[in-house]
Amino acid sequence: MLLFGDNLMSASLDKVGGDTIFGKIIRKEISAQIVYEDDDVLGFRDINPVAPVHVLVIPKTPIQSVAHALEGDALLLGKLLVAAAKIARTEGLQEDGYRVVTNVGANAGQSVFHLHLHVIGGRGMSWPPG
Ligand code: 5GP
Repeated sequence: MLLFGDNLMSASLDKVGGDTIFGKIIRKEISAQIVYEDDDVLGFRDINPVAPVHVLVIPKTPIQSVAHALEGDALLLGKLLVAAAKIARTEGLQEDGYRVVTNVGANAGQSVFHLHLHVIGGRGMSWPPG
């Protein structure tokens, strides 16, 4: 089954980290303000932050979105959430709270087709999101 954006990543498995801008960040071909790194996960500050703290948490193995995740990705998805919580603690967000968001496809406004969690905090937020 083809999902949105499948054509965008046709060459992704040829390159460690995939073919998106996030692949370049994983390979350190372009710089980013990295705040967390382990064998499987990278966390770095969003280039266009929407709040005082805005960190993107990505798997080093490229998956286009949660809609593309398979059973075998379950451990990796869990690691992303654990990393997001660690980053939130390090960034001082734990006490006041924060939001963890992942956008999927056009209606949600996904613009980079490499799965990422947005960890957003440092200000109050409304619900539902726009
Ligand atoms: P999406 O819209 O796909 O949910 O989120 C993609 C995010 O990636 C956006 O918030 C955007 O600001 C961020 N972004 C796009 N290109 C770069 C980049 O080159 N470096 C960093 N640090 N963030 C980026």
